[in-house]
Amino acid sequence: MTPSSPKILFATSEAHPLIKTGGLADVSGALPAALHALGVDVKILLPGYPAVLQQGKHATPFAQLPNPFAPGTVEILETRLPETAVPVLIVRYDAFFNRKGGPYQQPGGKDWPDNALRFGLLSYVAAWLGSSGNPTAWQPDLIHCNDWQTGLAPAYLRFWPGRKPPSIMTIHNLAYQGVFGPESVKPLHLPAESFKIQGLEYYGNLSFLKAGVFYADRITTVSPTYARDIQQEALGFGMHGLLHERRSVLSGIINGIDTKEWDPQHDPHLPHRYSAKRLNNKVKNKAALQHELGLAVEAPTPLVAIISRITYQKGSDLVLGVMHDLIREGVQFALLGTGDAAIEQAFVNLARAHPGRIAVTIGYAEDLSHRMEAGADMFLMPSRYEPCGLNQMYSQRYGTPPVAHATGGLADTIVHATPTHIATGDATGFLFREMTHHACTDAVRRAVRLYRDAPLWQQLQSAGMQRDFSWQNSAEAYLKLYRSLAA
Ligand code: ADP
Repeated sequence: MTPSSPKILFATSEAHPLIKTGGLADVSGALPAALHALGVDVKILLPGYPAVLQQGKHATPFAQLPNPFAPGTVEILETRLPETAVPVLIVRYDAFFNRKGGPYQQPGGKDWPDNALRFGLLSYVAAWLGSSGNPTAWQPDLIHCNDWQTGLAPAYLRFWPGRKPPSIMTIHNLAYQGVFGPESVKPLHLPAESFKIQGLEYYGNLSFLKAGVFYADRITTVSPTYARDIQQEALGFGMHGLLHERRSVLSGIINGIDTKEWDPQHDPHLPHRYSAKRLNNKVKNKAALQHELGLAVEAPTPLVAIISRITYQKGSDLVLGVMHDLIREGVQFALLGTGDAAIEQAFVNLARAHPGRIAVTIGYAEDLSHRMEAGADMFLMPSRYEPCGLNQMYSQRYGTPPVAHATGGLADTIVHATPTHIATGDATGFLFREMTHHACTDAVRRAVRLYRDAPLWQQLQSAGMQRDFSWQNSAEAYLKLYRSLAA
């Protein structure tokens, strides 16, 4: 272990492969693993949901404390993540976490009515482990909180006496803020003085995320551009004012991707594996994909892929119009996604009206998503906002230049094909500034023009395929931040 590495408690409400509902789980599995590989003494802190207890059935006792919010004792158990062996501390309190249903919602889809106490407890335990109350030999030098579910930890640390390690609040999704009525303040043992604008009060309610953003020593989000975007009213979800005020401690670190899972040279989902040196095999994947999806098998026709949740955030409404206009110019589209029922139906109708030109698959299909990344010529991602985004990185690795809205992580991970970037050979895709039909269609048109220039297109493809999107880079950036804070 690096002697100067601080000990990190990574508090999160989900971590792959133990429990996952979204991207937070991927980050919480991969980032601690990458830190662990760098020799950092990091432990993940996670609630004991049934799936976590089941996979951690050989966990050993680590500590225990009285539940401050309910009768009985909270046990902290220690286990390790499968494969990467990262230590995991499980917060076991069965009445809160060991129940049928999702981490946040009941089987019917409604939020658990006691979420404030459940994630209040997770935050409390994170703070307790950092405080002088922690009786174990393992004392974290820094608490890294992730999203609203752990947002109260920095608040507890602020008001408790004694040891106060620094804390970081990472925002993975600003849209979820953990807002509860003002009556939750007292049962959560938060001091009345914290319930004010200069504190965790948020438009008359209590917001867990605001608590984290207000009381943490540092705030990070998952890309540098998104860290700026959220200081603006348009993308700040009501928190832009505070985020702007705290801008001197707010920064962005881009997420990595799983470079083993997303590797066209070894991808088991592909009919033909390929690399930057063997791009002719990518063309074979295109023919196979056109065939699989019922598109006309035409090698020279540019094929645009879209894989995403079908939502307003992802610009799916814009994609509809873009498809409609561009198939007349001889472009093919393949879309995979699920989400908003009305937009889904509009995609299905459009595909029916244009057989052989548009293929729409409604659903979630991991294996098809790999074949689409490999078989398409370009990838369209017109997100209205994008904290980090993954598909634009996958597509660069697969030699499928992305066409994307210049927002958040998209702006940070795609090198726009300006004449200068083309001349220097580092262009990897296309960015458009205005979130309009016109700007998006024009960007795809421009991509299609460059696609017709084979040597230039290949240059774009190889530049993208050579980019390093591994977690190691992100982990090194987090470690630098940890060191600067813990020093
Ligand atoms: P977000 O987390 O906002 O949905 P990201 O681009 O960060 O967007 O990550 C989404 C992940 O989910 C990507 O790995 C993407 O490929 C995948 N994905 C989204 N929709 C589908 C789908 N219908 N089928 C397969 N994979 C999908």
